[in-house]
Amino acid sequence: MTSQVYEFQAQARQLLDLMVHSIYSNKDSFLRELISNASDAVDKLRLEGLRDKDLDVDISDLHIRLTPDASARTLTVSDNGIGMSREEVVDLIGTVAKSGTDELRRKLAETDAKDAGELIGQFGIGFYSVFMVADRVELVTRKAGETVGTRWESTGDGTYTLDEAPDAPQGTSITLTLKAVDEENAVHDYADQNVLRALVKKYSDFISWPIRMRVTKQVPAAEEGGEPTTEEVDETLNSQKALWAKSPGEVSEEEYAEFYRHISHAWDEPLETISLHAEGTFEYQALLFIPSQAPFDLFMRERTSGIHLYVKRVFIMDDAAELMPEYLRFVQGVVDAADLSLNVSREILQQDRQIRAIRRRLVKKVISSVQELQDRRPEDYQTFWSNFGRVFKEGLINDHDNAKAILKASVFGSTHSETEPTTLVDYLSRCKPDQDVIYYMTGESRTQIERSPHLEAFRAKGIEVLLLSDPVDEVWVSSGLDFEGKQLVSVAKGVVDLDDADADADGEEKSKRDEEFAPLLSWLAETLADDVSEARLSSRLTESAACLVGDTFSMTPQLEKLYRASGQ
Ligand code: ADP
Ligand code: MG
Repeated sequence: MTSQVYEFQAQARQLLDLMVHSIYSNKDSFLRELISNASDAVDKLRLEGLRDKDLDVDISDLHIRLTPDASARTLTVSDNGIGMSREEVVDLIGTVAKSGTDELRRKLAETDAKDAGELIGQFGIGFYSVFMVADRVELVTRKAGETVGTRWESTGDGTYTLDEAPDAPQGTSITLTLKAVDEENAVHDYADQNVLRALVKKYSDFISWPIRMRVTKQVPAAEEGGEPTTEEVDETLNSQKALWAKSPGEVSEEEYAEFYRHISHAWDEPLETISLHAEGTFEYQALLFIPSQAPFDLFMRERTSGIHLYVKRVFIMDDAAELMPEYLRFVQGVVDAADLSLNVSREILQQDRQIRAIRRRLVKKVISSVQELQDRRPEDYQTFWSNFGRVFKEGLINDHDNAKAILKASVFGSTHSETEPTTLVDYLSRCKPDQDVIYYMTGESRTQIERSPHLEAFRAKGIEVLLLSDPVDEVWVSSGLDFEGKQLVSVAKGVVDLDDADADADGEEKSKRDEEFAPLLSWLAETLADDVSEARLSSRLTESAACLVGDTFSMTPQLEKLYRASGQ
């Protein structure tokens, strides 16, 4: 069959173009991406092999191999993993299915070239990063169980070619024709064994499959006076240690960071690393990360869980949603459970008592880690909050068991400060001892809330009000949560009795005022009968003449809008 030329999907073309002309300084990361993909492919094959005894594959010597050729200026990264079918090559390599690509393009369009690197890092370009260091890339692959392989080739311009590869070994092999070494632009010599050795150590040491390279070894002469000879041997470049099984003291921050990048397919640093070793009834180890940057698809429907499940070091699945609730979907990590079957399915996971127990423990641990950031590392907490605060607060609605702890570990805008959000603990420490509720107001934005007449009297009396402007706020505030026994009360609802003492002292004046305004009030109530349920005098306002308030049990204006928008 002759080779066929295909066009990259438009989005892929743009990303490729970005890579070819990349000013991203960390060009070395292409190797980590290729090894990471190879490792995933080997994981998948081993699992298939264990599950499907009839699958005709050899899983006895799974590994990854680097083959540099200094004279031809090529580097080949190969694996004997699951491989790809022809359709998969087109789908996975010819298109960018990754959500958030549009968003990335939009942001790149309005970003300076020098900052583009950071965005690329945030997005995490996978396979295409090879075009930072290669002029031409050839990928040969054969899927486990299939007889004919596929050859894919591209120079990173708009097109690629596909051929049949009849005698391709099972697995995937990717050959880069390397760009000229350009130290100034961080293009190193990737055909040099020492460079590769160092890069694997640095980025991929923990990969659980051996990463091998053929090297020439000096062999001392067999007898005295004889000539030393050389011998070709395989060297394993990585130590393959499972980081989650180690105690934190044995692992460097850099090693954790690289591992984080491997499992999350992200390029940023972890903000926090959480290591858990449980013994007893359910034995498991967990290594969790809170990222320092929000992924592009944090709010997208198709976003999957970032928890990888292993059973005794065997990879089982990379999106074990059963182990982490949705409101902690930004958490990335590994859980290695000792007592699950390798055949465990999603359905079993959903029912499993052990999984539920692990999840409970992980959730508590993540929340307490957030609390610790808040208590001890204010800057990191701020980073956390600006990236994940809105997601974290979803837990106030969905996780009743932990809502109190989530509330405590959260911060909210407040009339106390224009810029600094407050914890509820700090809010309570500032309010007068006899204030037995926490006041809040919801709205679309801080500015919009601040303009509201509802705030006037509170401002005048120096009472602090939380200003809540995230859509999720609207939902959790109405769920009846309290904090340290103090109810959250909307300033836009019901009768807010701001000052009992005043009211008593002015009892006489008040009834006089009531009398004076009675005709106006009943006229108002009649005229507006369709729109309001009652008109009354209020101590709420100091500057505006009138304002609308909801009943104590009615929806806030924001919630009303939310419901209306969703057609209810
Ligand atoms: P990601 O790894 O984040 O999914 P990549 O761009 O690195 O994105 O890879 C895209 C997809 O191509 C992978 O998800 C995988 O399905 C497929 N792929 C890449 N490399 C290999 C490989 N060596 N073996 C099998 N499949 C691969
Ligand atoms: Mg990848």
